[in-house]
Amino acid sequence: MPASPERKTVQISLSLEQLYNEDALRKKVARHVRIPVKHLGHTRIISRSLDARSRPPKFRLRVEHSTVPFDADTPLMSAFQDVSHAPKKAVIVGAGPAGYFAALECLMHGIKPIVLDRGFDVRTRRKDLRAIQQEGVVHPHSNYCFGEGGAGTYSDGKLYTRSHKRGNIDSVLRLLVEHGAHSDILVDAHPHIGSNKLPKVVSSIRESIERFGGEVHFGAHVTDFLVEGDTCKGVVCNGETVVGDVVVLATGHSARDIYDLLQRRNILVEFKPFALGVRVEHPQPLIDELQYGQRHRHEHLPAASYRLVAQVQERGVYSFCMCPGGLIVPAATAPGELVTNGMSMSRRDSPFANSGIVTEIQEHHIPREFGNDALAGLRYQQHIEQTMFANNNSEKQVAPSQNLEDFVRGKDSASVLPTSYIPGLHTAPLHSLLPQDIALALQEGFKQFDRKMKGFLTSEAQIVATESRTSSPVRIPRDPETLEHTHVKGLYPCAEGAGYAGGIVSAALDGQRVIRCIARAFSTSH
Ligand SMILES: Cc1cc2nc3c(=O)[nH]c(=O)nc-3n(C[C@H](O)[C@H](O)[C@H](O)COP(=O)(O)OP(=O)(O)OC[C@H]3O[C@@H](n4cnc5c(N)ncnc54)[C@H](O)[C@@H]3O)c2cc1C
Repeated sequence: MPASPERKTVQISLSLEQLYNEDALRKKVARHVRIPVKHLGHTRIISRSLDARSRPPKFRLRVEHSTVPFDADTPLMSAFQDVSHAPKKAVIVGAGPAGYFAALECLMHGIKPIVLDRGFDVRTRRKDLRAIQQEGVVHPHSNYCFGEGGAGTYSDGKLYTRSHKRGNIDSVLRLLVEHGAHSDILVDAHPHIGSNKLPKVVSSIRESIERFGGEVHFGAHVTDFLVEGDTCKGVVCNGETVVGDVVVLATGHSARDIYDLLQRRNILVEFKPFALGVRVEHPQPLIDELQYGQRHRHEHLPAASYRLVAQVQERGVYSFCMCPGGLIVPAATAPGELVTNGMSMSRRDSPFANSGIVTEIQEHHIPREFGNDALAGLRYQQHIEQTMFANNNSEKQVAPSQNLEDFVRGKDSASVLPTSYIPGLHTAPLHSLLPQDIALALQEGFKQFDRKMKGFLTSEAQIVATESRTSSPVRIPRDPETLEHTHVKGLYPCAEGAGYAGGIVSAALDGQRVIRCIARAFSTSH
């Protein structure tokens, strides 16, 4: 019998200079396992993470070595089936990460996906983003949240998730790589794609869906559900009916018309706690100095990031979607609102670091005037976004901002600092413009952050309003086993808009999960 190949995993650390040096890596592994380099055989990196606390910072790697070459993974796409004439059809509303990964999962199960999105393909969408940035004109169907790839396309492209089901996360990351993302995302502890690379990956996913017989329709605004008895049989899209065996509702956290529609049609929706606050922007070299102890980073050292949490009485205040070397973007989905978010390019090379800093909004934080029904949080969220817009008389996306130190001291700012936010900033007393409880929680939160990261609370930073689309303020309830709406058969609330995901990877995972449940239901109904 031939001897079985020897395969082992070791942990090593590499200096910044050694990071992309194959010889240095092999030498370290060989030294670790005490064999000469020439007998080491084959090596591959399993995981890579930055140890920013060591001085100087270094990378920690898990490396596998083997006496025989590693087999290449079988592409997941090889399991896709031609669904052109499949007997079962899933109408998927929304072409965000959830909708597109649901469609790819359909191809694995022989179900034909029909994806409908109100926005446009990634290329057309880019022109609408330019109009928001440069002219302040928000297209209600094509913006930073709506359109092909959803809120995930022109996002920061961080691929972190708190989900611990690693096997499933790997399948999302591998599918992204099979559609053009860099294979580094398979090993990096904090994988990141970047706004400049995501559109190509997203359009390649669409090409797969169509090549295997699925359909993707843009400019396809869903305005009603076809419900017969207690079963959803399809949707009304641009005034026409689109029928399927099931409807997957993956419309994201900004589809306010869908929440209204559900409430009008007496399809149960519930209030969901969410978070709201501001975006804070520092010079990136300052954050590098606070985290790495050096303002001038080594070329292999990524722009430094942070994650901060504070407890202010009974309320959490935390950093959200931190974008090192990134840009603040105008993420409103309708005219007359001011909403911020953050993104970055793959190189993360802008001179700014920004992050949402938000506080929890529970049901009891919502003033009575916004009602006490399921949509009260949504109305409150919209009211704050509109207040911030009204504060700027220009009718454009010029955002209210305040020097961070002034905000914490409750003092007006005389001028704005340089910013990555292209529509521009104007000074505003955000300490009095934001609802008092929110302003107070954020002020105290910033003080606590400064105790954890000395120098964070500085006059070199400013805050920009409003960071309000952190998660959905509404939940669409579903059965925990079948994932079907609790009251309407055939309707599958999915991902972020339904309150079951937050972020690109978790939305994609939920899209896959919903289709697996649907496939199971189809197979048992035969
Ligand atoms: C600027 C920005 C940066 C971000 N950065 C990151 C990041 O770095 N990492 C991360 O994990 N997450 C990030 N996010 C969040 C992430 O993009 C979302 O969590 C994720 O996209 C949610 O996926 P989804 O599929 O549930 O919904 P969405 O991505 O919101 O997609 C919903 C889709 O439904 C469509 N739709 C809505 N209503 C209708 C209708 N009535 N008819 C037809 N279609 C409809 C929309 O056009 C949209 O395409 C960012 C978001 C933004 C805006």
